[in-house]
Amino acid sequence: MDGYFRAIQTKQLNMRKTLLVALAALFALQTSAQEKKVLFIGVDGVRSDALQQANTPNWDSLCSSGLYTYTSWHVGITVSGPSWSSMLTGVWSGKHGVTNNNYTGSNFNDFPYFVTRAKQYRPDLKAVQVTSWDPMSSAVYNDGWDTKIVVPSDDACEAAGIAQLADPDIDILFIHIDDCDAQGHGNGFSPTVASYMNQIEYVDGQLGRILNALKNRANYANEDWLVVMTTDHGGIGTGHGGPTRVEREIWWVAAGPSVPQAQISIDLPSIADLFPNPADYRTAPMLTDIAVTALDHLLTQNTEDFIAEWSLDGQSWLNYSTYIADAPENDLGMTVYPNPNNGQFEVRTTSGIYGSDVAWEILDMTGKLQRKGQSTISSTELNIPFDLTDLKAGVYTLRMTAGGKSSVTRVAVR
Ligand SMILES: [Zn+2]
Repeated sequence: MDGYFRAIQTKQLNMRKTLLVALAALFALQTSAQEKKVLFIGVDGVRSDALQQANTPNWDSLCSSGLYTYTSWHVGITVSGPSWSSMLTGVWSGKHGVTNNNYTGSNFNDFPYFVTRAKQYRPDLKAVQVTSWDPMSSAVYNDGWDTKIVVPSDDACEAAGIAQLADPDIDILFIHIDDCDAQGHGNGFSPTVASYMNQIEYVDGQLGRILNALKNRANYANEDWLVVMTTDHGGIGTGHGGPTRVEREIWWVAAGPSVPQAQISIDLPSIADLFPNPADYRTAPMLTDIAVTALDHLLTQNTEDFIAEWSLDGQSWLNYSTYIADAPENDLGMTVYPNPNNGQFEVRTTSGIYGSDVAWEILDMTGKLQRKGQSTISSTELNIPFDLTDLKAGVYTLRMTAGGKSSVTRVAVR
């Protein structure tokens, strides 16, 4: 090809690119003009392996239009009260205070539901919760719901949820479905228990009817719904609350026009029933991500800003591309060596911010502060020695800030 033709071709390509960029910009404008809304379907006590083996066409089709995983890791207390609280507040038990199903010790005034947070910027939002599990309604406060509907059964939840979706003004709808958990407690949480599997498949039918109601909304074409569906914990035998893989391994989907289509597959280590490999763990979606993702969808504020403002523990799935990067937030070029370790490790940074003061804190996986301190960077490469041999084995979050930059990473102490 001679230079002349190449030049013409390049020019045509550039024009095509310009046109595409213009179309993309137009599309983005239209998308941003759509009303942002959230439908959150929470299904209690569905093991990840059971869901994968069940016949669930509606779930499958939701996944094929969104971001989903069967290998999300529940690092908190695998009990309903604390789990739903973490999903709905975006923080772990150390902050929201709920450690049991009576919701005693809750601190929803300091760490409210994401609905309350969203209303700080969008007080006009209309939000409704539907559940058959009363404590989630009567024991929770400062949750932001305009209406809390408590009904006697899952079927009534479905009906109430569908009725709410006919309301043109609704912005946030949370539907909690409970009977899979009840089946698990009654007959066993296992893919080999027929009644448990049947219940999961029944819920898939409910999902189909709820999604139909969503798509039949009069103004659906002008709305941008984020559909999130997940579970609060798995189960073992006829119970849950412990640290085994089948209790911790959960699943979720986030689907909608603002979400990329992909499966996140994490290789959860088979030996680590208690603690996952931190490298996998960093990219594994968490319960606390649900609230952050919903807020990210609903608000125009910068995601990192509101996470910092409200001390949230989760991340947004809408930022999937940055989310799966080596570290979600690593402006300091921070690495931990060795990792995992016995509590003695070194933190290395290579950000060229020498002369700055470094502040660091170490939180356990419930979000509770374990250690904090300060150091000064004196050269282009900073190595800070840490000695945490007195801490229990576990996975910790290390957050470090210096010169307006920050890094967050996870440290596994064995
Ligand atoms: Zn539960």
